[in-house]
Amino acid sequence: MGRPIVRQLSAAARDFIDDERLLSLLSRPAPDLARLDDILAKSLAKEPLEIEETADLLLADSPEAVQRLFAAAHRLKSEVYGNRIVLFAPLYLGNRCINDCRYCAFRRSNPEAVRRTLSLGETRAQVKALEDKGHKRLILVFGEHPEYDAEFIAECVRAAYAVKSGPGEIRRVNINAAPFDREGFALIKAAGIGTYQIFMETYHHATYRAVHGEHNRKGDYLWRLDALSRAFEAGQDDIGIGALFGLYDWRFDVLGLVSHAIFLRARYGVGPHTISFPRLQPAKGAVIDEAWRVGDDDFKRLVAILRLSAPYTGMILTARENPEVRREVLAFGVSQIDAGSRIELGGYTEQLCEQELDREQFMLGDVRPLDVVMRELLQDGYVPSFCTACYRKGRTGEHFMEFAVPGFIKQLCTPNALTTLTEYLTDYASPETREAGARLIEAELSKMPEGRARLELEDRLRRIRDEGEHDLLY
Ligand code: SF4
Repeated sequence: MGRPIVRQLSAAARDFIDDERLLSLLSRPAPDLARLDDILAKSLAKEPLEIEETADLLLADSPEAVQRLFAAAHRLKSEVYGNRIVLFAPLYLGNRCINDCRYCAFRRSNPEAVRRTLSLGETRAQVKALEDKGHKRLILVFGEHPEYDAEFIAECVRAAYAVKSGPGEIRRVNINAAPFDREGFALIKAAGIGTYQIFMETYHHATYRAVHGEHNRKGDYLWRLDALSRAFEAGQDDIGIGALFGLYDWRFDVLGLVSHAIFLRARYGVGPHTISFPRLQPAKGAVIDEAWRVGDDDFKRLVAILRLSAPYTGMILTARENPEVRREVLAFGVSQIDAGSRIELGGYTEQLCEQELDREQFMLGDVRPLDVVMRELLQDGYVPSFCTACYRKGRTGEHFMEFAVPGFIKQLCTPNALTTLTEYLTDYASPETREAGARLIEAELSKMPEGRARLELEDRLRRIRDEGEHDLLY
């Protein structure tokens, strides 16, 4: 247990979420189709939306309006992200927790939770198991507990990067952990994390108090809301936000996420690197209010509206969702998914047949192996990517936007996706997936104009495939 947290807010700290205003935006009449088309045109021009515009998209629920929403979100996703889908794996390292969040199986008062903190040796074994499957990008996840302080988490990050297994290595480690103070953020930044991810769970103040309990550390709304400002002020580049849909009116929490992005862009010149939109799932010992459960049709609208509201922000869809839902919403704006995920502590090395709910924070909807998900993506025409180039080339935060906005990123993303895909096909894929991958790569290359760039890429792919070279990033 290291130094106590200094509960000092950032210079920018303020509670920018005005519940009444957001609720009043949602109580207006739906926009007409002309207004809707104006807003969609702004999104398609790749301009982030204002909160009133996002609210109008949320109110536009006629079949015709929803059809236009989906079509625009699909087009925007293709124009900014092409057909690439970035892959990662979650790795839970400790589920001790001092909080008592109603919706979580790791809550302090759940006697059935099997409590565990992986040792560094166990952590290395998990990382090796993930590398041996082909993963290159991880997110480390922790409960909130004095044992999981910045020093401990920084050590876990360094340990993950240090594991090498054959051609396998982890090239980007993101974390999802409780808010740090400024010194803590500087420490984890120095350990080399990619994205620092934190979810407000819900932006609705009364619901936030009800599900977290004001006397719990997580019950401090402003301390959590201000976390990303402290992270930016401590030098963190890439940050991720999220909400747990089903705790309150999903439309309100979409406005909360968009308000958060607008606030960060206005204050720090750069918005979130990623947005996550997990839906509540069954969790052992959790107390869930069914009143706000989000159905599949609303979930699709939610994904499309977030896509349209924040054109350049990565969107993360996790294995909470079942394969059918995942397959469908990928088209509306998702840019990152996890695959082959196990969220039990030690789950990547311990032969678990079924999910063990007393060892998981919530129930997963998609437990298919990585290779199966890869093959489905390839057969659906997506380019699965393990790219980490921007982070490792310093194209992060504002610098990432300098590349993303003018569209340069495409010239880098597709080649990087194809080189990391070729590594996976060469080192880890099943014969069926290798075949599907070879077909897709040929199709992608044929889309590229003849010339030096294509020749250079073809040469790199050949060197990876035939000469065992690796990590030929752009
Ligand atoms: S959601 Fe996080 S902080 Fe809350 S009980 Fe679960 S692990 Fe702890």
